[in-house]
Amino acid sequence: MWNIMGKFYITTAIDYVNSIPHVGHAYQKVIADIISRWHKNLGDDVFFLTGTDEHGQKLADAAKDQGLTPKELVDENSSKFKHVWNLLNIKPNRFIRTTDKDHIKTAQELTMKIYKKGDIYKGTYKGLYCKGCEAYITEKDLVDGKCPHHNKVPEILEEESYFFRLGKYKDRLLKHIKENEEFIQPKARRNEIINRIKEGLNDLNITRLKSSLEWGIPFPLNENYVTYVWWEALINYLSGIEYPKETFKRYWPADIHLLGKDNGWFHAVIWPAMLFSADIKPPKTVYIHGFLTFNKQKISKSLGNSISPVKLAEKYSVDGIRYFLAREVMFYDDGDFSEESLKNRINNELANELGNLVSRTLSLCKKLPEIKKSPVEIKFEIKNIEELMKNYKITEALNEIWKYVQDTNRYINQKEPWKLQDGELEKVMYTCLESIRRISILLWPFIPSTSEKISSLLNIEMQDLKGFNNEIKIYKVGEPEILFEKII
Ligand SMILES: [Zn+2]
Repeated sequence: MWNIMGKFYITTAIDYVNSIPHVGHAYQKVIADIISRWHKNLGDDVFFLTGTDEHGQKLADAAKDQGLTPKELVDENSSKFKHVWNLLNIKPNRFIRTTDKDHIKTAQELTMKIYKKGDIYKGTYKGLYCKGCEAYITEKDLVDGKCPHHNKVPEILEEESYFFRLGKYKDRLLKHIKENEEFIQPKARRNEIINRIKEGLNDLNITRLKSSLEWGIPFPLNENYVTYVWWEALINYLSGIEYPKETFKRYWPADIHLLGKDNGWFHAVIWPAMLFSADIKPPKTVYIHGFLTFNKQKISKSLGNSISPVKLAEKYSVDGIRYFLAREVMFYDDGDFSEESLKNRINNELANELGNLVSRTLSLCKKLPEIKKSPVEIKFEIKNIEELMKNYKITEALNEIWKYVQDTNRYINQKEPWKLQDGELEKVMYTCLESIRRISILLWPFIPSTSEKISSLLNIEMQDLKGFNNEIKIYKVGEPEILFEKII
């Protein structure tokens, strides 16, 4: 099957398992799943990678607090992430864990490759280290002497350590970013990164002494060290596709690394420099999306169960959540997960506009034993939707798709088919059914179970975009059913 259509490789950030999944994590994975399904819908050979990041100080500390070994803790927490993604109908090709044996091996091999290139050396590091970030931070990033992300005073750390020659790649990085406009998206983030690179790039400390931290991948050059967690975590994008074997050759370079603002620097600067050093092509696009708030509050543990994707899906349905995240939140910007807007969108759009369209169409078809093909009176132009999806304009694409739901409702209101009989009625209903069939194909990446449900109500096979224009010869549809219950 390979090589018939294009390949598409999409990755998400791998989640750090010191907490349990919340709606912020879910947002990124839902969007990645939508993009992945869109490409499957096009007939592309897609590889979608997600997973969990499982080493480092914070996890070692958290395990200790709970009286567990680090491995016990990461096993338990990683399985929670996997479970929630499955529940939200997020279907990666692989769920990678940085404690997986093949990842450990690949991380060590890549490190050795970079060392042999002359880009890793031993030196002394003295700096401000934030345990929360698991990273050194510079004085100018502090707010009132504290890490702004964790509101903690950093420690001063001085140790012999290994360094990556990040500074060496400054010019090459700037050149690559300038020559490849799609490399860092959206534009605002791209400009921020360019300005920060211009300020200068320091070489990067990539190890911790084993005597101070044991929970890490052994550093292949010196057994007294473990590999800095960020360094090896980035390599998951290669180990996930079995670098350097066939799967890697098939899918690399990644078409898109999807991640949040806190990860931008690592993916847009450090990671491509590592790849340059290892003579591997950089990813095509690093997409840095905004952060979510929940009912206008910062997402944090104090919000408790209310931000649990499991609880939210129970209350609002999986497709309700998926639809809302894609439609409400502008992908490139910060957004708010407001339960009030979620309810409104479920009631007004999913239940009233889409649900009613399907149920009233099926009700009107009851008068007819079958509906034979006739000219479709609603024109679908999907080139612009394809273009928007290609450029990761998810919200805009969904808005365009939704116009067809509204067009079809308008068409029914104009034609007043409840006043029609036989042949006249059949013609109008054929247009409605064809329109619904096409809408269900376009919506499948966003709300897959609903689209599949619609197909089964229409009594046809679920098709993909290749089948978009293949009109059905004769419809023999089923009984209407409620697609979305209204939320009170
Ligand atoms: Zn911090």
